[in-house]
Amino acid sequence: MDHTPKETDSAAVKSADTPDASPDSPPPRRRRFGRWIKAILLLLFLLLFPMIIATYHDCAICGMKHTEWRMIGVGWLLSSRNRLNPCSEWYRDQVEPEHQHVWARVPYAEGLDIFGWKVGMFQFGSLASGPFNWLMLGHQRQLAIYQRAPDPAQARTLFLKLARFEKGNTTARHNQDEIFTRLNTWIESGLKGPWPFQEGEFETSRSASPFRK
Ligand SMILES: [Zn+2]
Repeated sequence: MDHTPKETDSAAVKSADTPDASPDSPPPRRRRFGRWIKAILLLLFLLLFPMIIATYHDCAICGMKHTEWRMIGVGWLLSSRNRLNPCSEWYRDQVEPEHQHVWARVPYAEGLDIFGWKVGMFQFGSLASGPFNWLMLGHQRQLAIYQRAPDPAQARTLFLKLARFEKGNTTARHNQDEIFTRLNTWIESGLKGPWPFQEGEFETSRSASPFRK
C-alpha cells in the first residue's frame, strides 16, 4: 500500500523534535505574566462580586431592627443581629414583656463581597414583605401611633395586617390596600385628627392577651 506522508505528520514530528521552538509555546516570562493576570482577575472578582446579601427587617409589632446576612444563591444564614430602639423598649415595658417578633423586610438590601465589604445596594419595592414596610415608619412614628391608638392591641393588630402581602386580586388584598391607604393618609397628615379606624374594627382577642395600658 502506498503511503504518502501528509503535511500534518511532518509538522508533528518537527514539533516533537524541537518543542522549545514551537511558535505556540509562550516564553516563560509571558507565562508568568499570564498567571499574574489570572490572580488579579480572581482578586477583583472576590473584591467586587457580591457573595453575601444583607437584608434589613423591622418587627411589625414592636419596631425592633433585625439584620440578616445570607450567602447569595443558597440562602444560608451566616449571621443575624437585633437592635433595640425606643419603640421596642416602650412596647416591652408598657404592652407585652415578651412576644414573638414578626420580621417585615424593608425594600432595601446590600451586597457584600467575601471579605464583608459593601459592593452593591439594591432598592426594590418587591423586596418588601408587606405594605408595612412601605410606610417607612421609623421607631418614633410607630411609637406615636401606639400612643395615639385607643388601645395598643388595636395598633398591634393593624400593623400585623400589613406585615405580609395578601394574595393579589382577592378581597383580603383589597381590604389590606384600603387599610394601608387610610393609615398612610393619617400618617402623612402628621397624625392629625382622630384614630382613623372604627372601634372594634380589628379583632384583638383582648381577653386572652396580656395587654395593659
Ligand atoms: Zn417585636
